[in-house]
Amino acid sequence: MTKICVFCGSSMGDKEEYRITAKQVGEYFVKNNIGLVYGGADVGLMKIIADELLKGGIEVIGVMPHLLIEKEVEHKGIDQLISVESMAERKEKMIEISDGFIAMPGGFGTFDELMEVLTYNQLRISDKPVGILNIEGYFDKLLQFFDHAVKAGFVRKEHRNNLIISSNIEELVEKMNSYKPVVIQKWIEDIKIESNGE
Ligand code: AMP
Repeated sequence: MTKICVFCGSSMGDKEEYRITAKQVGEYFVKNNIGLVYGGADVGLMKIIADELLKGGIEVIGVMPHLLIEKEVEHKGIDQLISVESMAERKEKMIEISDGFIAMPGGFGTFDELMEVLTYNQLRISDKPVGILNIEGYFDKLLQFFDHAVKAGFVRKEHRNNLIISSNIEELVEKMNSYKPVVIQKWIEDIKIESNGE
């Protein structure tokens, strides 16, 4: 992977550990010459990672809708700011230009982006690895909910298992590098049969 898209908070969170790890993620990208694609903001955990890459001379690409650029939250120092029409177009662009995705602690924006890439993989619109950097167990309850959704019959186990999880950035990227999506050939057929009560 030469370019990884990171989804993370436009806020800093309540624990110092989030900020410390965001900085370590930036350092890891620099050390391994991995470019960053992200929301393009100059705020929150996003800013910490972007600043670290810029310090190390590694490419940073931001993707931002006009709406947010008008609010002047864009990072003025990044290599490229791609301006798009909408939040939906932003996600499309991020997915198109990145080799993989990492979600770090964040809020609704982060959840939205994570769910989008998981759904893309599920529908095989894209086949790129999706990882969660589970700092301080931030995502534990969401992961429990995913397991609940599998048990309840709304998420296929194979799709759940396509999600890569670690609390360590090095381990996470290593796992993402060897990612082979579990493909369910008959999935859509099965859903049709189930819905017809067969
Ligand atoms: P949140 O997790 O709700 O703080 O939102 C962060 C995620 O949504 C990031 O990955 C961004 O791509 C996007 N986002 C939300 N708010 C902003 C903002 N003010 N500036 C740039 N991107 C944002």
